[in-house]
Amino acid sequence: PARGETVLVADKVVRRFGGLVAVNEVSFTLKAGEILGVIGPNGAGKSTLFNLLSGVLPLTGGAISVLGRAANGLTSRAIARLGLARTFQHVQLRGDMSVLENVALGAHMRSRKGILSAILRLDRKEEGALLAEALRQLERVGLADSRNVPAGSLALGQQRIVEIARALASDPVVLLLDEPAAGLRYHEKQALAALLDSLRAEGMSILIVEHDMDFVMNLVDRLVVMEFGRPIASGVPGAVQNDPAVLEAYLGG
Ligand code: ADP
Ligand code: MG
Repeated sequence: PARGETVLVADKVVRRFGGLVAVNEVSFTLKAGEILGVIGPNGAGKSTLFNLLSGVLPLTGGAISVLGRAANGLTSRAIARLGLARTFQHVQLRGDMSVLENVALGAHMRSRKGILSAILRLDRKEEGALLAEALRQLERVGLADSRNVPAGSLALGQQRIVEIARALASDPVVLLLDEPAAGLRYHEKQALAALLDSLRAEGMSILIVEHDMDFVMNLVDRLVVMEFGRPIASGVPGAVQNDPAVLEAYLGG
């Protein structure tokens, strides 16, 4: 997509769990080459929103589209094929498998053959192509030297970057990152911010949930603030930071 083109739309998205409205009429648009932040206190509904966008959970109401195509009701695999890739709040790498193999699993998300052939190694030629793609992504994120070590042996900051490489290996248009800086050391956060900056410069569109305010305010183009499932403010960081509803949500408790 061309820079500035709309790549992801959430239109009054709702998700209920019994009597709890975990996501309550959240709307936003994400454009190509933009980083949009989603912030809010614990339990605000941020991870649930990501689960809705990525097809992990079905919507109770509203609509989602990726590159103009309706994503409602699609499986997470079908949404991945539309061009959306994600990472999870808790690192989900196979710690015993090599870094390269972990990233190759992401390339499979976009292949027709599916994960089963990856595990059973049914097709040697395809496997070679996926490993080559995985290596390209590790070079892109600066971790090619670690390709042969077990993913579980890396520091947390590097594991988070491997997860981003795995998401990139599916050749996404939109990247969803759930708290990628959580638990990272200062220099690891700086490396992560530099990577996300360079992805944006390449035209990647990124939706990011993040708790670290300094990290998020310095990184994103725009923000949506959630509280108890509802969007309470949105806009550029400078404006959102001084929004009375946001100050109340974070400090008023
Ligand atoms: P956040 O990521 O902003 O901390 P979550 O999206 O994880 O918030 O959770 C939002 C609310 O939805 C919380 O009250 C949480 O307990 C609830 N919730 C999340 N997932 C489920 C689920 N699968 N079943 C029931 N309630 C859930
Ligand atoms: Mg969460």
